[in-house]
Amino acid sequence: MLESIRIILVNTSHTGNIGSAARAMKTMGLSQLYLVDPVAPPDGKSSALAAGAGDVLANAKIVSTLEEAVADCGLVVGTSARSRTLSWPMLEPRECGEKLVSEVARYPVALVFGRENNGLTNEELQQCHFHVCIPANPEYSSLNLAAAVQTLCYEIRMAHLNETRLPETEQEYPLSDDLERFYSHLEQTLLKTNFIIPQHPGMVMTKLRRLFNRARPETQELNILRGILASIDKSVKNKE
Ligand code: SAH
Repeated sequence: MLESIRIILVNTSHTGNIGSAARAMKTMGLSQLYLVDPVAPPDGKSSALAAGAGDVLANAKIVSTLEEAVADCGLVVGTSARSRTLSWPMLEPRECGEKLVSEVARYPVALVFGRENNGLTNEELQQCHFHVCIPANPEYSSLNLAAAVQTLCYEIRMAHLNETRLPETEQEYPLSDDLERFYSHLEQTLLKTNFIIPQHPGMVMTKLRRLFNRARPETQELNILRGILASIDKSVKNKE
């Protein structure tokens, strides 16, 4: 699924950023990189910064317009370091990850990144269904291009992992009845060991109940506790 999520870099100036973006993508499981009219095509600097993501870089598609890059996409999200005068439907980075992951089953989806010096043009932003802004330091909100790719691809990955996570194995908890039996067993044992003195029982049992209720022992754990009590009972009996 993640393979059909397209990362589009528009008119990138620094070839190193293209390599770093490829690496950021691959670490998060994404592989489809589109370069719209890069100022220079990927070079040695790109490969050096791509490191183990040379395959993503090698498979990058170079096209001349954003229109071409998104032609077959059903959902296009544009990124922006600041909210512009242009008001447009916005997504939080987390929602952006969730939306891309939830729609990618139906059609290719794209996340579009702008130029290092001046981002995406208004015209390019208007080709997007939604905009996403990483809520960075308001006094310095412009991330390095590849760092922005990394951050938003991380959200995509988290959304993907959430979707595919197996439901937690249901814990088996004892019923109240079983717990009551445990508490009376505990009390009997503590009486036998003289920890509780019948004339002055105090609050011990109440406090122990609160302790065990807070811990909420699972069935297996309760069985272990019952086993411990039985072993104490046995050793007390042997001594008598
Ligand atoms: N001076 C430009 C910043 C460009 S940074 C501007 O004001 O638009 C290069 C690209 O990195 C941006 O086009 C965007 O794609 C991405 N980017 C940087 N910071 C971002 C942020 N806080 N939220 C979303 N994308 C960001």
